[in-house]
Amino acid sequence: MTEKDYSKLIEIVGKDYFIKGEEDIESFLYDQVEKTFRPKADKRSVAVKPANTEELSEIMKYANQEKIPVVVRGGATGLCGGCTPTEESIIISMERFNHIVEIDEKNMVAVLEAGVTLMQFLEELDKYKGIGFPVHPGDEGAQMGGMAATNAGGARAVRHGVMRKHILGLEVVLPTGEILELGGKLVKNNAGYNLTQLILGSEGTLCIITKVILKIFPNDSYTASIVAPFEKFEDATNAVMEILKSGVSPLAVEYMDKFLWEGSSKALGMKWQAEKGEADLLIMLSEKTEQALIDDCRVINEICEKNHSYDTLYAEKKQEQLDLLHIRGEQYNFKKDWLYDSFDMAVPISHIAEFIHDLKRLAKEYNAGSSLLAHIADGNVHNDMWLVDGKAPEYAEELKNRMYEACFSYGGTITGEHGVGKIRRTDLEMMKDPREIEIYRGIKAVFDPNGILNPGSVIA
Ligand SMILES: Cc1cc2nc3c(=O)[nH]c(=O)nc-3n(C[C@H](O)[C@H](O)[C@H](O)COP(=O)(O)OP(=O)(O)OC[C@H]3O[C@@H](n4cnc5c(N)ncnc54)[C@H](O)[C@@H]3O)c2cc1C
Repeated sequence: MTEKDYSKLIEIVGKDYFIKGEEDIESFLYDQVEKTFRPKADKRSVAVKPANTEELSEIMKYANQEKIPVVVRGGATGLCGGCTPTEESIIISMERFNHIVEIDEKNMVAVLEAGVTLMQFLEELDKYKGIGFPVHPGDEGAQMGGMAATNAGGARAVRHGVMRKHILGLEVVLPTGEILELGGKLVKNNAGYNLTQLILGSEGTLCIITKVILKIFPNDSYTASIVAPFEKFEDATNAVMEILKSGVSPLAVEYMDKFLWEGSSKALGMKWQAEKGEADLLIMLSEKTEQALIDDCRVINEICEKNHSYDTLYAEKKQEQLDLLHIRGEQYNFKKDWLYDSFDMAVPISHIAEFIHDLKRLAKEYNAGSSLLAHIADGNVHNDMWLVDGKAPEYAEELKNRMYEACFSYGGTITGEHGVGKIRRTDLEMMKDPREIEIYRGIKAVFDPNGILNPGSVIA
C-alpha cells in the first residue's frame, strides 16, 4: 500500500480510527487459534475502524478499485485463523458497529449492528425480563457478525441449532461497496434465492455483514444440570441416543475426558464430584414449568440407570449449575499450553462411540498426547493433538489424515462448527468433490470479482 492509500483511508474514517505500524498493528492480526498453528500475518497491513455502513462502503469501493485485499475482524475469538491478514491488507475492525438497533418484542426479533458482542446482547436482553437468545459459543467476546459469518454453534445446539436457524435477515456490504438488505423480520419468506443462508458460514469471503436480524426467545424459568458417570463410553453414548429418542430435549449434553473434568475443577479450586467411572456426561436441562423439569430428570435418570451409569448427581441450585459451566469452560485454559492442533470433526451421532474409539486408538498408536471433549448429542468432537517438546509433532500430518479417514468413513465432516478459515483449506479439498469446490469459486467470483475479500480463507 502507498501513502495515497493511507490518506484515502484516513479521509474516510478519520485519523483516530486508522492504525498502522508493526507494533500498533500487532493486536489486530490474530484470533484464538493455537499459537503454533497461526497463519503468518503480514504486518504491513493497516487497520481501520469505520463508524457505519456508508464509511465501510466507501472503503470497499476504494479497495476494490485499487485491488487491495480486505480482511474483516470481529471479536477475533475464531479458532481457524480466519481474520488473520496473510497478505498486505486493510483490516476492517467492526468494533464501532456496536449499536443495538431494536429489540422488537412484538415480532420477537432483535436488530443488531454486526459488532455487538454476544455479552453485550445478552446483557441487553436481561433488561427485557424473560427474553433470551440461545446460541452460545464458548467466548462471549464473539460479535454477532462474526457468529453469523462462522455460523457458530456451541453446546446448546442440541436443542436450539446453530446460528443459521435463528437469522432472518442481514445488511451486507459487497466487496464492490454496494449495500444489500436481505430478508427481514418475516417468519416466512420464499421470494427468490436465499442469499442470507448462503452468506451465513461464508467466513467473511463473500461480503461484510453490517447488521443482523435474528429471532429472540422466551426464556425457560426452571433449569437443572445432571452429571451422569459411566464406566464404559458405549453405555454413555447409548444413553444419549435413548435420551434424544425419549422426547426429552436437553439444552446441552457435554462429554469431556475425565482428566479434563478433574483438572479444570482443580484449577478453579473445586473438586470434580463424580469419583467413579471413566465417561462422565454433563446434561443441561431447562423447562417452562417445574413439573416438566422433574419429569425430564426422572426420564433421564431411568435411561442412565438402564445403561449402567453410577449414581447420577444433580445440580438444582443456580450456583451449582454455574460451577459446572465454569468447570466445562475452564478446560480450554487448563490445556491450552499443550495444544498443537484442536479438531472440530463431526459424525452422525449413531457412530459417535466408534469414532471416539478410533480417535483414541490412533492417538495411542502414535503415542500422541491428546485430549477430547464433545458436544456429544450433536456428534461434534473436539479432540486435541498436543505439542511435543513445544513443537509440532513429526507425525502430525499423518495422524490428522488417518483421523479424517476414520471421520469420512462414517460420513463425517472436518468441521462441525468452527469453520475452515485459513488453517483447514486443504483439508476441505480432501473431503469435497472438486466440482463442488469449482461451484464455490464461481459463487465467490460473482460476489467478489477482484478476489479482494479475505484471500486465503476457505477456498484458494
Ligand atoms: C474458548 C472458546 C470457545 C469456543 N467455543 C465455540 C463453540 O462452542 N462453538 C462455536 O461455533 N465456536 C466456538 N468458538 C469459536 C468462536 O467463538 C466462533 O467462531 C465465533 O463465532 C467467532 O466470532 P468472532 O466475532 O470472534 O469472529 P472472528 O474470529 O473475528 O472472525 C471469524 C471469521 O468471520 C469473519 N467475520 C467476522 N466478522 C464478520 C462480519 N461482520 N462480516 C463478515 N465476516 C466477518 C472473519 O473475517 C473471520 O473469517 C470458541 C472460541 C473460543 C476462544
